Amino acid sequence: MQNFDLAQTFQLDGLDVRGRLVRLGPTLDQILKSHDYPDVVAEMLAETLALGATLASILKYDGLFTLQVQSDGPISLLVADLTSEGDLRGYARFDADRVAQAETQEGAKVPRLLGAGHLAFTVDQGPDTERYQGIVALEGGTLAACAQNYFRNSEQLETVIFLGSAKSTDGYKSGAVLVQRMPSDKKKDKDEAHEEWHRTVVLLSSLKLEELLDQNLSPQDMLYRLYHDDGIRAYEPKILQHKCRCSREKVATTLKSLPRDEVTGDDGGALVNCEFCATDYEFTQSDLDAIYGDKIYGTPKA
Ligand SMILES: [Zn+2]
Repeated sequence: MQNFDLAQTFQLDGLDVRGRLVRLGPTLDQILKSHDYPDVVAEMLAETLALGATLASILKYDGLFTLQVQSDGPISLLVADLTSEGDLRGYARFDADRVAQAETQEGAKVPRLLGAGHLAFTVDQGPDTERYQGIVALEGGTLAACAQNYFRNSEQLETVIFLGSAKSTDGYKSGAVLVQRMPSDKKKDKDEAHEEWHRTVVLLSSLKLEELLDQNLSPQDMLYRLYHDDGIRAYEPKILQHKCRCSREKVATTLKSLPRDEVTGDDGGALVNCEFCATDYEFTQSDLDAIYGDKIYGTPKA
């Protein structure tokens, strides 16, 4: 599908505003397809993935970006992670009964489906590097509102995010547009600067979810429609794809770090499911002998 699975940087030259546009289509569908989430859980994960890709695209990093939303409500965990190569994956944890109950209720999504908790993101660039971390309480009706609070409180940057998802006959789609007011190096009076930011926000609020997720509308055309009077400059989009980094070797390493009796099932083996991509890794008793017997895992047994 053209026009999807990308993150695009743009700026409004006339207005000291930087922006990001993210659109997820087939990639999102692949992530959700490997699970059987209730619609509202799929929807929240779809938004988390779009938000994660948006936040990641603001940061310059070489490694792994992770966004986690943890809370005490029906959906207790939403995770999205994205490598600097554009490999995206994610999963959700939830209580099916509580989700079913929350679905019958009305009200803003965050208090209803997530409850109290926080939204946190980290950037991991490998050993011997400092982890970058941002965290904000889930105070807001939507994930976008919570993320906006983070930028206002922690970065002192006025930010507005339009975030949404939809399910149609051709699958799930989600998207986000972020605009952020940058410190100006030009001499402008306060009123003028305030007026410009106000204009940026008002124009973004005219965007409709159908336009954000319209597969016949290119990202460039969509942005041009919004900001053609304000010196919009869009850069080459970054392509995103679904890819899980799990492997039998990594699972074996994790098993080895745990006490054997904790992982062993009734048949003496172990079954490990990757929460991201739902792949099952099966280990027989003799596989576990090899793992826990301090032999190098993977070498042929005598
Ligand atoms: Zn996996």
